[in-house]
Amino acid sequence: MLKRSSSGGVFTALAEYILDRGGIVVGAAEDKDTKKVVHAFAESINDLDKLRLSKYCQSDTRNTYNEVKDCLNDNRYVLFTGTACQISGLYAAIGSLRHSKFLITADVLCHGVTSKRVVDAYIDAKERKYKKKIKNYSFRSKCDGLKPSDIGMKLEYEDGTYIFTDKLVDTFLLGFNNNLFLRESCYECLYCGTERIADFTIGDFWGVGEERVSGEQVTRGVSLMLVNSDKARLMLAELDKSLVYDKISPNEAIPYNRALICPECRPAARNVFFGLMKNRDYDRLIKRYCFKMYIKYYIKKITGKNYYRVKKLIKGN
Ligand SMILES: Cc1cc2nc3c(=O)[nH]c(=O)nc-3n(C[C@H](O)[C@H](O)[C@H](O)COP(=O)(O)OP(=O)(O)OC[C@H]3O[C@@H](n4cnc5c(N)ncnc54)[C@H](O)[C@@H]3O)c2cc1C
Repeated sequence: MLKRSSSGGVFTALAEYILDRGGIVVGAAEDKDTKKVVHAFAESINDLDKLRLSKYCQSDTRNTYNEVKDCLNDNRYVLFTGTACQISGLYAAIGSLRHSKFLITADVLCHGVTSKRVVDAYIDAKERKYKKKIKNYSFRSKCDGLKPSDIGMKLEYEDGTYIFTDKLVDTFLLGFNNNLFLRESCYECLYCGTERIADFTIGDFWGVGEERVSGEQVTRGVSLMLVNSDKARLMLAELDKSLVYDKISPNEAIPYNRALICPECRPAARNVFFGLMKNRDYDRLIKRYCFKMYIKYYIKKITGKNYYRVKKLIKGN
């Protein structure tokens, strides 16, 4: 299950708790026909797989806010997951039902989403480059035997082959992680920081060390969870069977996760990027704007453990 989860699988633990009580789980899934990311329902454990794994473009919440309202009116448990702005949208749509004991919300600690247009341009460039059709892609794949930091893009082709590209060189992840093409509103996100809107906030425990968990567990993935409300505190007390957890000091997590501090900066290059994307080859465009990151990646690869010494030498201090 951890292999099929973005980090430590805490989403699944929350989801199973709600499903065990006859409830429903709402989250982001890829629509197989349209290839769009949309909010969808899971009513059984087998159904959860489609909601797992991070999709880095904005999910369309469709009519889910109204459907959640109906479930709450029927006294049915609901776990609604998404970005913090989507949780805020849900609260606005359901009014006083947001306080219902049947509703639990969890936001993913998000540094921004992008538009489907960028994903389409990226997929198109990869299909042209390798001259074959892509059947499936995963923005955040954990490859066997790698550290959690070694996550990357997995492209599965129709002929059964696949390519895994490290997040530090993949042309989508490079642009996404360097905030080149986040949605305009994400650079002014109102929901960053430690004051959260949802009952739970789930993210990656970047910075976790082997003094807390085994190296093997670090490799599999460790989640960070903020428990923000009384409803969440009550639920956590009942989660001991499915979660192994430790209370940590905020200082162990905040410095490693910018979304807990403030929104990402808007790079000046974003102004021209979308205009140029229409007519230029996507991969070449990214390589142009992220050139420095490529150089850094290859120097790191060549120098290995000596990277920081070499960096000091280059800078002359
Ligand atoms: C766009 C995006 C940006 C993120 N940025 C950060 C970050 O900067 N720092 C950090 O610590 N964590 C970030 N995360 C969260 C993290 O990657 C994991 O999603 C989270 O830790 C849950 O881990 P899990 O192992 O329980 O995963 P999973 O089981 O893989 O979690 C799946 C959950 O992610 C939700 N989800 C997936 N894609 C989307 C989407 N497009 N929109 C809304 N919800 C979605 C699903 O609804 C479900 O609730 C981000 C996630 C997304 C989707």
